[in-house]
Amino acid sequence: MVSKRSLRVPITSIPPEGLEVAVDLGENYFSRWREEDPELEFSTAAINGSVRLEKHGRDILVRGELKGHLQLACGRCLENFAQPVDVNFDLLLVPGPGPGGGEEEELSAPDLDLDYYTGETLDLEAIIREQIILMMPLKPLCTEDCKGICPHCGAVLNLEACTCK
Ligand SMILES: [Zn+2]
Ligand SMILES: [Zn+2]
Repeated sequence: MVSKRSLRVPITSIPPEGLEVAVDLGENYFSRWREEDPELEFSTAAINGSVRLEKHGRDILVRGELKGHLQLACGRCLENFAQPVDVNFDLLLVPGPGPGGGEEEELSAPDLDLDYYTGETLDLEAIIREQIILMMPLKPLCTEDCKGICPHCGAVLNLEACTCK
């Protein structure tokens, strides 16, 4: 069983050896995301995995592994299909610009994605949401060779042939 842990993690609760946070996103998360961002074009989804947090001075390394699926509408035939989600990300959070910022960074990692945090609590849900949105295809297709919909008669060409030319 995955232990239910909040995705809002106080930075002081990350021990020196790092912290592993189980992620188990169900429909309650996704319906909230859609409320906040009506542009999100997926219906149901289920995603789980884990996120590991490590402190490096004031920087925080976030490594995530997420798997699951999103239900998307195909851009050609408009049918819903399950888009597999398989996201691995390494993100380095550095203290945000502003008062107290501007210190020397302890990790220089050109191959890491960099982001800022402010305050004393990490909002892992926002980070995960961003990573999932980043991996969403711009033009989802149910299959690479989806035949789409006939513009003349509206037939779903994956299911039936039509006689239009
Ligand atoms: Zn399709
Ligand atoms: Zn047709």
